[in-house]
Amino acid sequence: MALHRTDRFGDIYASPLSGAPLPKYRMPSGASDPRVAYQLVHDELALDGNAAQNLATFCTTWADDQIHRLMAESLGKNMVDKDEYPQTAEIESRCVHILADLWNAPDSRSTIGCSTTGSSEAAMLAGLALKWRWRQSRGANGDGRPNLVCGPVQVCWEKFARYFDVELRQVPLEDGAGGLRPHQLRDHVDANTIGVVAILGTTFTCEYEPVAALSRELDAIGRDTGLDIPIHVDAASGGFVAPFLRPELEWDFRLPRVVSVNASGHKYGLAPLGVGWVVWRSDHHLPEELVFRVSYLGGDMPTFALNFSRPGGEVIAQYYNFVRLGREGYHEIQQRCRDTAVRLGERIAGLGPFSLLYDGRDGLPAICYELTGADAGFTLFDLADRLRMRGWQVPAYPLPPARESTVVQRILIRRGISADTADLLFADLTSCLRELTSGPGDDAARAGFHH
Ligand SMILES: *Cc1c(COP(=O)(O)O)cnc(C)c1O
Repeated sequence: MALHRTDRFGDIYASPLSGAPLPKYRMPSGASDPRVAYQLVHDELALDGNAAQNLATFCTTWADDQIHRLMAESLGKNMVDKDEYPQTAEIESRCVHILADLWNAPDSRSTIGCSTTGSSEAAMLAGLALKWRWRQSRGANGDGRPNLVCGPVQVCWEKFARYFDVELRQVPLEDGAGGLRPHQLRDHVDANTIGVVAILGTTFTCEYEPVAALSRELDAIGRDTGLDIPIHVDAASGGFVAPFLRPELEWDFRLPRVVSVNASGHKYGLAPLGVGWVVWRSDHHLPEELVFRVSYLGGDMPTFALNFSRPGGEVIAQYYNFVRLGREGYHEIQQRCRDTAVRLGERIAGLGPFSLLYDGRDGLPAICYELTGADAGFTLFDLADRLRMRGWQVPAYPLPPARESTVVQRILIRRGISADTADLLFADLTSCLRELTSGPGDDAARAGFHH
């Protein structure tokens, strides 16, 4: 048969599997050559966006060869199986202590914390701990519905609130503010507030919320009302940036009111996708009922997670990064990203129609700008579309309430986005701008139409 001939001939694109579209609804009845199946799946994925041009994501899109090797070697390691993979469990525990130390926990050798699949799972766990602690502290004092007070949070906190039946009190943005401001707290907290979430690197503008000032305001509220409201810091991105670029900034366990911190290892932690972290100030802040004990190296190991089985490779890669880069390495990498962001911001601001809402200096290595002047003749959505034609993903979106009439564009610089890449983006942005601001007549002239 012809098919057999092409099989023997051995060419991937003359194989039976490549002779028809790949299955969409039903598993094929027969097996195929792995090389052929690999190539066809690989080719299909070429239709995805190019991760290196994705300036919308905070997540890791580049890893060194050693990480690729460790990830491949860890394929069979299940994070939950502490008995079978005690050394992977040990590495997770080292990472927790290293992070507790990085975030200035008072007793980092005995802090409690864990890895998760990302900041979202970490937020669920931290939120649950807040809810349980609130319930314990209420004792027999009534049965109001718990609430969580925050500024413009990432969607994971909306999920937490809905899944675990907590009222999310999102404080509207004030004019000119990129996040929650201390004087806004008093009107929103009450005896049923399980905590305040402060964000170190908001998803909308990338600036840090003023955690220390929020904490001082909660102290004042405590003095006036007797309420003792804890802070959880969502440091998804900032947890791996602030300690290196702004070590003097007090946002972490140096503030006694901060009871827990989460961060995404797979964002500025530079680990591959699939790892986040949550650390509590002390085991006192993680209610015992939430912790399950599993046997580990003959002893027992506390675990707190939403998942059961989970890959170990990302956690191992996180530890490799700590060992390989050290504080100096993280500092150099994040500093380079910040320099690139600041320079790009200056150049974009110099183009004329844009003004920076965030210039990349004090928060995450990123910039955020709006279009100034009512009649630019185009919108940031138009610009985002144009840039997309060149492969760049630079999202445009409205700010959260009550600043939803402001549309912004955000560019994230992370490891893998070099100064050269930023330059190429700038050149494309400049030519998109030229196309958008020249009238239709100019378009026709450029296209060589003759009337
Ligand atoms: C990305 C992000 C999250 C969600 O983190 P994942 O690791 O993607 O689950 C939560 N909060 C903030 C501030 C973020 O930037």
